Amino acid sequence: MDRQQLVVLAMGAAHKAHKEFGVNPTSRVDVFRVLRQVGADVFFRPLRSIYGAYLPTGDSIPGLLINSNLPLSVQRFTAAHELGHLYLGHKTASLEKGLDFTPEERSGTDPDEVVAEAFGAFFLMPRPLVKASITELGINEKRIDSPDVYLLALQMGTSYAATVNQLQTLKIVHPAQARELRKQVPKEIKQKINDEKAVGRHDVWLLNESWNGKEIFPAVMDTIRIQLKETPTSGYTWSLQDQPVGVNVLEDTRKGPEEAGIGGTQVHEFVAALAENASDSTLTLQKKRPWEQGSVKGEFSVQIRPQELRKTGPLVVPKIA
Ligand SMILES: [Zn+2]
Repeated sequence: MDRQQLVVLAMGAAHKAHKEFGVNPTSRVDVFRVLRQVGADVFFRPLRSIYGAYLPTGDSIPGLLINSNLPLSVQRFTAAHELGHLYLGHKTASLEKGLDFTPEERSGTDPDEVVAEAFGAFFLMPRPLVKASITELGINEKRIDSPDVYLLALQMGTSYAATVNQLQTLKIVHPAQARELRKQVPKEIKQKINDEKAVGRHDVWLLNESWNGKEIFPAVMDTIRIQLKETPTSGYTWSLQDQPVGVNVLEDTRKGPEEAGIGGTQVHEFVAALAENASDSTLTLQKKRPWEQGSVKGEFSVQIRPQELRKTGPLVVPKIA
């Protein structure tokens, strides 16, 4: 089979797996739920040089290893890649040294790896989900830039590099555009959208009006940065209604022209960090005149779905017989 046929095979397998495990192809895919359903032995461990591993064991249950030092988005993509090896019944062990090879690099890569990689991509990023996410986040498909791809990846729960590859595979970006996007690295993109503050392996959720009413999936120590427009001279200002437990608002500032003239707009920014004790909750902001009762002119809310970042140990703790 040539490389294009392998990709088609992987796409078909991912589609079949979605049906088999009841995955909705238009919303974020819970790959760890599927791995629990499959019944593989999945183990997390901080590792230095590999993303993860697939360890077939003949007739018994295969083992999967995931590097817990990686950002959650990369762990999820690794998990989907390993699920590909498992679902397609690959016979040889695989140590993942570099996961995100580009579509151009497929020809020099082992066929099992091409299939697992494409399976992982189509499993986490089926076309309906990619298209829906682009629309929901208000991204201009014709002018996708690196922060757009980073946030799109974050919302779908995949890595930046894998998302660039998949956008290219789906022909949403041209190969030349993809090459430009690959020159940017997530570490720098995160810092750029986070007021030049480094966040290490944690993520930055930069939210604007397009995210109103959406669910977000941050992990502990992720930064949530909400930027909403307001017109200072109107007297209407955004303020926090409910501060959920574990969502700690650290900054409440205004950005933009110091002297926004009459009718001029500024950006009102709220910066929060997710703490260990966060649970499913709603963060709500209201736009109103602080001195006027019942003057609510707008509301912004996001559902916060904290994600577990595992350090070491199995996905499913075995029961002692
Ligand atoms: Zn592999």
